Amino acid sequence: MKMKKDRIDGAIGPLLNWYRENARTLPWREEPTPYRVWISEIMLQQTRVQAVLPYFDRFMKELPDIRALAEVEEDRLLRLWEGLGYYSRAKNLKKAAMLLVETYGGSMPDEWDALLALPGIGRYTAGAVLSIAFQKPFPAVDGNVLRIITRLTASKEDIGKESFRREVEELLKNEYTDANARELTQALMELGALVCVPNHPPKCEECPWEKLCLAHQNGEETAFPVKKKAKERHKEKRTILLIRDGERVVLKKRPPKGLLAGLYEFPGEEGELDRQQALSRVEGMGFKPLRIEEAPKAKHIFSHVEWEMTGYLIRIEETEAAPEQILLVDRTEAQNYSIPSAFRKYVEFLRLRGET
Ligand code: SF4
Repeated sequence: MKMKKDRIDGAIGPLLNWYRENARTLPWREEPTPYRVWISEIMLQQTRVQAVLPYFDRFMKELPDIRALAEVEEDRLLRLWEGLGYYSRAKNLKKAAMLLVETYGGSMPDEWDALLALPGIGRYTAGAVLSIAFQKPFPAVDGNVLRIITRLTASKEDIGKESFRREVEELLKNEYTDANARELTQALMELGALVCVPNHPPKCEECPWEKLCLAHQNGEETAFPVKKKAKERHKEKRTILLIRDGERVVLKKRPPKGLLAGLYEFPGEEGELDRQQALSRVEGMGFKPLRIEEAPKAKHIFSHVEWEMTGYLIRIEETEAAPEQILLVDRTEAQNYSIPSAFRKYVEFLRLRGET
């Protein structure tokens, strides 16, 4: 711990100098209000800066403050989020905004415990909001920060372990002051994003830690960070039914809890159905199928499960009443429903066929 502390102590000054010269101009940095920092940090989880930029811009135009977020219809919110994935993040934003309106009159508290109590806010996001928006001495430690610190100190500890993450938080907290908090959090993030990058060789010749970094001195930069293998993702076969009645397409709302909760989907079920089984499911829903054809197979990877999908396009007789939980949506309106990116290939298939 002492060795790591000494190395980190010596690394902060060069890092801050480097950041002042190399920081990117980003919309949430130009105006680091608590709301903007919070939304940007949630969007940036699992998503790259370049991909987030247009979403952030649109989100801020439509929902410029906590009150607007608290009041937005869930469907509208999910439309704004569509494409970013991990929809529970958006739902938690709304829940947290509602609590902020109820409890803090629509502003964000500047206390660690109060932030951690909000849905969707963990230690990393609380640290980011406190340091960047409120200039308070709290570090924000995520996978990027763990990568650069384990390289700097050549630490072989498992970054998946909560105890190690806490140790890094502790070490960094010593370096924070009321004066450097905003810059330090952003500088650590920026080094991980621009120089000491994941998945590619780090750009050590551009790094302010080139002379300090133990991993670089030993020529084993990519040996860090060490992470024990996660459990293998579970594979699940599914059948997707693209049901068409004249100009309309059948959609269904997913249950309010669980994977992709509350979003719209094409009807389907677990398992790989053959044509006959698919037709009998459609009949079971109260429709009269006219013809069936195969749609392309598709795959979608979630964090813990992988869907291998078989699709059928099924034409049905025009119908007046849709069964409960089922929506018959005019093809021109289908785009107003938040259909998760897991079904993108089928949305695209219907579009190319002039079916939505
Ligand atoms: S010297 Fe290389 S490995 Fe070390 S922190 Fe910098 S970019 Fe990363």
